[in-house]
Amino acid sequence: MWLRRAHVPPPFLGQPYEGLVDIAIEKDRIIAVQPALPPAPMHPEDWDLEGGIVLPCFVDCHTHLDKAYTWERAPNPDGTFTGALTALAADRIHWTAADLYQRMEFALERSYRHGTRALRTHLDVPPGQLAISVGVFQELQQAWGDRMTLQAVSLISLDLFLDEYGEKVADTFAQLGGVLGGVAYANPDLPAHLDRVLTLAKDRHLALDFHVDETNDPHSQCLKAVAEAVIRHQFSYPVTCGHCCSLALQPEEVVKQTIDLVKAAGISIISLPTCNLYLQDRQAKRTPRWRGITLIHELDQAGIPVAIGHDNCRDAFYPLGDHDLLQIFATATLIGHLDNPYHHWLPCITTTPARIMGIEPGLIAPGSAADMILFSSRTYGELLSRPQSDRQVIRKGRLI
Ligand SMILES: [Zn+2]
Repeated sequence: MWLRRAHVPPPFLGQPYEGLVDIAIEKDRIIAVQPALPPAPMHPEDWDLEGGIVLPCFVDCHTHLDKAYTWERAPNPDGTFTGALTALAADRIHWTAADLYQRMEFALERSYRHGTRALRTHLDVPPGQLAISVGVFQELQQAWGDRMTLQAVSLISLDLFLDEYGEKVADTFAQLGGVLGGVAYANPDLPAHLDRVLTLAKDRHLALDFHVDETNDPHSQCLKAVAEAVIRHQFSYPVTCGHCCSLALQPEEVVKQTIDLVKAAGISIISLPTCNLYLQDRQAKRTPRWRGITLIHELDQAGIPVAIGHDNCRDAFYPLGDHDLLQIFATATLIGHLDNPYHHWLPCITTTPARIMGIEPGLIAPGSAADMILFSSRTYGELLSRPQSDRQVIRKGRLI
């Protein structure tokens, strides 16, 4: 099958082409990409895209499927971060295997239909929840294995790693082939907590993924602490930090020092622009003044991989969303000025998160898997302005 006259953004082509391209698919792979031939009578199996944009399938590397779709029964009355924590802590009594399975599977279904091929979810695993949530994740991983690459990350406060329970969590995520992670809070013991987590991960060859600095407090410098710990331990497995909001509110020289350390430590950053916009700088009866996001441009200019994720979806942390990364990208473009050119930033929801997850990058080039999203939009303005409900998703060479 040939997809004729596709508009593929330059970062996704194996080699640069001017203008539209024709893409040949055989079975589940792309076998050729070449400059588009002029419109002509076609083989009935071929498809003229008429200049429509084609993107590789999305990779959502920071989600919370276990919290998704709980807003109706656990709303956040004041929209604050603390309000969200309180509402979801109380909701956890409902988190049986059946409840989790139904909500998490619905989230996967939405992601898949919107064109996501791989997804990483954090799982809240305080004592009492670990076996239930991990069990459901494993069931879903098996049921969805042919459609979606799934990774799970532990999410607990780092002090919970200090005793035997920390070993149990690390062993469980090692057996799962998962990633070790948790929420880092600024406190004098943070370096010691990180030493413990990095040792647990190193012993089990695990990658790390932390929630850090999701706050407007400029004194919160957990990203810097993680980078220092990675360097101190010569930790050689992939390390990712999500949120990093307070970095945007720190003095220039502090920022520069942290970015240099993050670069030296080889840490990747995930920004969650929509959740941060919703939660940060929120005070009753006061208009927010701050966009809440980390320093996406400065990190990118330093050569640090920066991905964009969905984060929460219709729960107390974020009442909106549909697990559609295009929608997140469109909003992120406004929040973070991710244009000029747009195609520089599209890797944030495709190839960069793929690199963070350690999976196939997802280029539109010969030899790559035929996993693509076909849009009727021919320009970025149209792509990011219209709902794109008519998109067509190709997985393993076939329309889903
Ligand atoms: Zn998160």
